[in-house]
Amino acid sequence: MRGYGASLALGCGLEYNGQPLTQELNLRTVPPVEKTDYDYIIIGSGIAGLNTALLAQEHGSVLILTKGRIEDCNTLYAQGGIAAALGPGDSAVLHMQDTLTAGAGLCDPEAVSVLTREGPQRVANLIQWGVPFDTIHGQIALGREGAHSMPRILHAGGDATGQHIETTLAQRVAQSSITVLEFSLATKILVEEGRAYGVEARDTASSRTLKFTGRYIIVATGGGGRLYRFTTNPEVATGDGVALAFNAGAAVMDLEFYQFHPTAFSMEGSPSFLLSEAMRGEGAVLRDNQGRAFMSDYHPLADLAPRDVVSRAIAAEMESSGGGPVRLDISHLPADTVQARFPTIYSFCMEHGVDITKEPAPVAPAAHYMMGGIKTDVWGRTSLGGLYGCGEVACAAVHGANRLASNSLLDTLVFAQRVVASTLGDAPEPATPGPSPDGPAYVAATLTQRQLVCASAPALSLESLQDLMWRNVGINRNGQRLLLSARILQLWQRTMPKPEDLPSFELANMVLLARLMVEAALLRQESRGSHFREDFPQPSEQWEKHVVLTKISTSQEDAT
Ligand SMILES: Cc1cc2nc3c(=O)[nH]c(=O)nc-3n(C[C@H](O)[C@H](O)[C@H](O)COP(=O)(O)OP(=O)(O)OC[C@H]3O[C@@H](n4cnc5c(N)ncnc54)[C@H](O)[C@@H]3O)c2cc1C
Repeated sequence: MRGYGASLALGCGLEYNGQPLTQELNLRTVPPVEKTDYDYIIIGSGIAGLNTALLAQEHGSVLILTKGRIEDCNTLYAQGGIAAALGPGDSAVLHMQDTLTAGAGLCDPEAVSVLTREGPQRVANLIQWGVPFDTIHGQIALGREGAHSMPRILHAGGDATGQHIETTLAQRVAQSSITVLEFSLATKILVEEGRAYGVEARDTASSRTLKFTGRYIIVATGGGGRLYRFTTNPEVATGDGVALAFNAGAAVMDLEFYQFHPTAFSMEGSPSFLLSEAMRGEGAVLRDNQGRAFMSDYHPLADLAPRDVVSRAIAAEMESSGGGPVRLDISHLPADTVQARFPTIYSFCMEHGVDITKEPAPVAPAAHYMMGGIKTDVWGRTSLGGLYGCGEVACAAVHGANRLASNSLLDTLVFAQRVVASTLGDAPEPATPGPSPDGPAYVAATLTQRQLVCASAPALSLESLQDLMWRNVGINRNGQRLLLSARILQLWQRTMPKPEDLPSFELANMVLLARLMVEAALLRQESRGSHFREDFPQPSEQWEKHVVLTKISTSQEDAT
């Protein structure tokens, strides 16, 4: 399993009805080479891929390609829950307002309206499919998280929401006619006459190259947290989908916006395991090393301030105290309440010698969520015919410059349904190429091939890339360090050997994604949402627009 490491796998206990998940599902892992043509080819087996597959199977044959085991994905680790306006006094309008505020001027209002209006129905589908959301007195229990004006977060197993969703969906897939090929790394989107028509993949066990054709190619490959030294994401989160789509000619958008979660467990030798925002929703307080609660120095909402504010506040506190972590204290709650509400977090911290019912946990920010991605419209269509994007890898500008907590799982559900609807002809034609009329404008740019001067660079490795990104393209950025990073990344791109196995394909994808992120971050000369530039610390009206990047052909480049 390609998770976070042994301790998390133990803490999570990947089981379903008491059985190890994969054993229970009994999925096919050997490619059925006799069938290579499908109606739908879906890359990825997180919530976006599985949900899209379950909806699509009613309309045609479906193949899921996934590079690890079916459960190797970000979804499995989601803790806090899914946001949906279901509670008394709540409404799609209030949810929309909160989402727009968090997005700092860069959400597409149409996309957010779709998300918040259609969300409750999609969550109801999950309940019908058997996801056991927690209840209180027979009603769905709704938690509260930072920057939500109402309690609206559904959760399952306390803090094991993602695990329950992933196992429920994976089990339904296993009982269906959907073909799942595990250990099948998608390496190329096949394109002919401006339309995607297939996927090249590599069976990572045998190194065989596989080729599949399909009417609809859906990229659902999740985020790219592994670009950073500290991340809440598991090993499979290497941003492959952005690289695949960009190389195929699709536009990508908003890649300068990467969300850093403020509170990941921070201890030498331990993974950056997430300590959910729901803990602060239940009254947990951030303290410095002297035990002083510091968040009210930074924002009127104190511990429930937006994630970027809390992450920067923690980074500042860490710097002023010599670099060590700060503390997250939930000991005000009775021990049995903490254990029941946060069983996974409680167990993980206990395994690492911290009893959170009695003492605060050491925490620091970590890379968490990719707001940008493959540019899609509100029907999941990309700028390339036949190619669709869904889930964390896609960007319909629902999250703008900063995602509101627990809106990501909802995003995958709502837009999976729309992707399938659009393949059935339900979406208006043609796909709208530009921004929606009342949304922010676009600035279009291409990735230059012109050689930047790079005097010296460290040797390329996963670790050197992660260090570069953490230091230069992290919570605090500036033009000088971004430019240096662009030079190093370009040099690495030019000198990198042709990928030939899983780690080298992933590394090549990560270097390309890093490059796209740096180019977008360099362009955006302001601070907004999760993108903070020390040399441009304020937001600028002039930058109330999306950065859209596309590939430049060699002939175009020669002409510039
Ligand atoms: C620790 C943690 C906690 C979170 N908590 C919450 C929360 O409480 N609420 C919320 O809304 N969101 C939360 N999120 C975010 C949310 O979980 C993710 O955004 C969401 O699960 C993404 O789903 P996805 O299906 O798009 O991607 P994923 O679940 O990451 O699935 C991507 C899939 O694509 C596969 N893949 C990738 N590249 C390739 C390739 N080249 N070839 C074949 N397969 C490939 C992967 O193996 C994987 O199966 C959390 C994230 C983390 C990491």
